[in-house]
Amino acid sequence: MARIGFIGLGKMGSPMARNLLAAGHEVIGFDVVPAACEALAAAGGRIAAGLAEAVADADVVITMLPTGRHVRDVYLGESGIIAVARPGTLLIDSSTIDVESARAVAEAAAAAGLAMLDAPVSGGTVGAEAATLTFMVGGPRDGFDRAEPILRAMGRTVVHAGASGNGQAAKICNNMMCGIAMIGVAEAFALAEKLGLDAQTLFDVSSTSSGQCWSLTTYCPVPGPVPTSPANKGYEAGFAAALMLKDLTLAQQAAAGTGAATPLGTAAVSLYALFVGSGRGDRDFSGIVEMLRGAA
Ligand code: NAD
Repeated sequence: MARIGFIGLGKMGSPMARNLLAAGHEVIGFDVVPAACEALAAAGGRIAAGLAEAVADADVVITMLPTGRHVRDVYLGESGIIAVARPGTLLIDSSTIDVESARAVAEAAAAAGLAMLDAPVSGGTVGAEAATLTFMVGGPRDGFDRAEPILRAMGRTVVHAGASGNGQAAKICNNMMCGIAMIGVAEAFALAEKLGLDAQTLFDVSSTSSGQCWSLTTYCPVPGPVPTSPANKGYEAGFAAALMLKDLTLAQQAAAGTGAATPLGTAAVSLYALFVGSGRGDRDFSGIVEMLRGAA
């Protein structure tokens, strides 16, 4: 069993750290917000007084932080993780961040002789609680082999996506696909309404024809056809629109940096920015159907 330093005990990090404890690992947590540490302490985890204490004796350090800026600060600072970790410590960042930051931090770790992986997740807070997350992992193969059994204590699927940054690349490409598809499905249901076509009938046709996709069959944006979708609970998230906007923005940043053409990704970011700007950032991202209806 490993000694794991866990940095960032927010909505995702807290249940993930508790699942590591439940699997028998020793967990030393740290968060700049003391209240965020309470759940891990209650579950029997140790809470560090500062970053260095959580990192210094760890075999593995896992970070679950908001953005690339936080990740750069925590890893690269003068008394950051890379400076403090002892030789042989495996570093794993599970935050969703820009590919450039992920690669820059992994390079700095490698220069200090430390293996680092980017391992963002899909599955949300429900998956974090239930230890059913999907991990998309970028970084050296031997680091991946060491990380896999630890990640399996928090997730069901662990995929090696290739070199450093490729975990983040997989995450933002997948979420760009999903965001664009959700807007497409929502537009189709809004048009069907105007045409007098019943939502259930459209669902029955499309879910068995070429319009079929996850945004339709799992997260159907109108109430009725998929009883478990957020549309049936007043668009309570689920996957919050603000997080979809964050991921779509990361995809646009990556597209600009590589010269990739993503015209629908650009349109999706504008529409989600409008939706979030209207005060609905905490709503499920499928709620965008209401804005599209209202815009008609
Ligand atoms: P969160 O804001 O709830 O948690 C982040 C935590 O990091 C906070 O508790 C914050 O205090 C802490 N933190 C910030 N700076 C710190 C520092 N310097 N040292 C120690 N702790 C620090 O966010 P979250 O929902 O847990 O998401 C974390 C990451 O996971 C994000 O990148 C997010 O995009 C990604 N993600 C979230 C979800 C989701 O459904 N919430 C799903 C998939 C991926």
